[in-house]
Amino acid sequence: MAGRHRVTVVGAGVVGVCAGLALLRDGHDVTIVDRDGPGENCSFGNAGMICDTGSALPLPSPGVIRDVPKMLMDSRRSLTIRWSYLPSLLPWLVAFLRASNGATRMANARALHALLDGTTAAYDTLTRGTPNADLIRKRGLLIAYDTDDGYDGDAGKRALLGELGVEAAELGGDEIRQTEPALASSVTRASFFTGCYSTINPYKLTRGLADRFVAGGGRIERREVTAVRHGSGRVTGLETTEGEHGIDRLVVAAGAWSHKVAAMMGLKVLLDTERGYHTVFHGVDTGLGIPVIHAEHRFGVNQMDEGVRFAGTVELAGLEAAPDYRRADAMVERGRHVLRHFDRSRASKVTKWMGRRPTLPDYLPALGPAPGFSNVWFDFGHQHLGLSLAARSGLIVADLVAGRDPGLDLSAFRPDRF
Ligand SMILES: Cc1cc2nc3c(=O)[nH]c(=O)nc-3n(C[C@H](O)[C@H](O)[C@H](O)COP(=O)(O)OP(=O)(O)OC[C@H]3O[C@@H](n4cnc5c(N)ncnc54)[C@H](O)[C@@H]3O)c2cc1C
Repeated sequence: MAGRHRVTVVGAGVVGVCAGLALLRDGHDVTIVDRDGPGENCSFGNAGMICDTGSALPLPSPGVIRDVPKMLMDSRRSLTIRWSYLPSLLPWLVAFLRASNGATRMANARALHALLDGTTAAYDTLTRGTPNADLIRKRGLLIAYDTDDGYDGDAGKRALLGELGVEAAELGGDEIRQTEPALASSVTRASFFTGCYSTINPYKLTRGLADRFVAGGGRIERREVTAVRHGSGRVTGLETTEGEHGIDRLVVAAGAWSHKVAAMMGLKVLLDTERGYHTVFHGVDTGLGIPVIHAEHRFGVNQMDEGVRFAGTVELAGLEAAPDYRRADAMVERGRHVLRHFDRSRASKVTKWMGRRPTLPDYLPALGPAPGFSNVWFDFGHQHLGLSLAARSGLIVADLVAGRDPGLDLSAFRPDRF
């Protein structure tokens, strides 16, 4: 390796912890700072799916743009915008609109495809031979449909994925039940992405990776970064709630708050948050072995170690607004029919959660050197795919810090592309 550096990572979500672990593998002296404990924010409650290239199509598309008026009118829709947040969101929405046209979307899909190609191998690299490997299942991912109309409506998406070279097994009724007996007969069509992984508990996985990081000599410090000292194209220190922290090299992986850290460095990054919800029915085992995304009802369902979890929805309402847990309830109402053996009365308890996905308007992360700084790298904005992309992004950041070629073109992920 070229040299041993003192590297500080801001953020102990799954993205920051994976970056920390990857940097530690290179022999650096690594400290992760977070105002909360590892995995206590967005990485706590996601749907646990570790997706690969089948998720390469970014959300901005002409179809979503047509739906914007409905998003404003109906707060129970799977994708909604709060009126009160609309003025603050406008610059992000304009950039979202620009990213929706066919040619831009396809160029972005190619970039995301290149990043997603290797997500599962990256998790193998970071978990092999450790107890964390036991938290990962390797059984694929199903995209489910109830109706032929819904399935046919996604033919365009399947064609675009085909152009990218992505293949899925297309399943009809009997094949679906043979593949995943826990699905009810209401599911009549499915695309099966066989290479995807999933976790039985994303919080335990992030904690487990953090434990591994500490066991390997890394430090995790609980402190909030309140200001960044910088000059002559370098960050020299962080002001935190626990005092000053000197900086040699810095990685910003602060999830949905990363633009605030960037602003402390004088940089403007067009990051916003897509808030999502989950409901967990603790103690309920539905027998579901393969996680499912229902394409028509727009939610994910995954059998976790603690119970069955329904997760999803997008609410554009900013970082600060209070959660609206009616969205978590509405999702369960839309989704409960897909599981053959779901009996909510058997739940020992039911918990609901809201998390803030970090999302840039074109749904590509900010991954690479911070513009104008020679000792700072950005690793945030992984939207709906932060669990999936964390390990791969961490290994890429480690390559960049070491001055190695990460093996893919990162220009689409430049933080100053807007
Ligand atoms: C409902 C839902 C379902 C999802 N399902 C999936 C899925 O199935 N698969 C998938 O790949 N992704 C999924 N996601 C997305 C995924 O959860 C996120 O992309 C991912 O957790 C983001 O991780 P992160 O480390 O960037 O952010 P976080 O986990 O939010 O971590 C960021 C950390 O930075 C810290 N921080 C911020 N500012 C400061 C500061 N100033 N000082 C110190 N610390 C700071 C915070 O305290 C926080 O701990 C889902 C998200 C939601 C909401």
